[in-house]
Amino acid sequence: MSETKIEPYTGGCLCGAVRYEGREFQGAAYCHCRMCQQAAGGPFYAFAQFARDSFRITGEPKWYRSSEIMDRGFCAACGTPLFVKYRIAKWSDWLIASIGSLDHPEAVPPQRHYGSESMIPWLEIADGLPRESYAERFIEKLLADDRANPDQGSAGFRVDALED
Ligand SMILES: [Zn+2]
Ligand SMILES: [Zn+2]
Repeated sequence: MSETKIEPYTGGCLCGAVRYEGREFQGAAYCHCRMCQQAAGGPFYAFAQFARDSFRITGEPKWYRSSEIMDRGFCAACGTPLFVKYRIAKWSDWLIASIGSLDHPEAVPPQRHYGSESMIPWLEIADGLPRESYAERFIEKLLADDRANPDQGSAGFRVDALED
């Protein structure tokens, strides 16, 4: 993981109506899944993860429930994709911010690729980072696990969990 420390991590949308600040950075990654491509309006979604209780938002982002496991926040005035909040207990401690909305995206290099099964074929990223595909019915399995273990806390950022 990068040792860069720029706390607090600040950012905001294109028009400035929504600003945020995260104090506990937990990691960064790319997601190439179709929902993230559409939500980002780009070939992938690059995101930084923070502890939710360390995160402060000023302004009023709009929230869109893109699936049963997450809500996506964006600026209603300028449309910038900003946040992801998970609705399952296991990841409920996390707040995701889009790397492009950070004031210093250069300080937050992604460490992993998710959703590699949907990576756009013309996109070549020769970074040597680990790539993980989402299993079929990934969301349904997460929800089933969530219902079976309603009291589980966050297991921490998955990059770290997988790199032991
Ligand atoms: Zn805005
Ligand atoms: Zn995704």
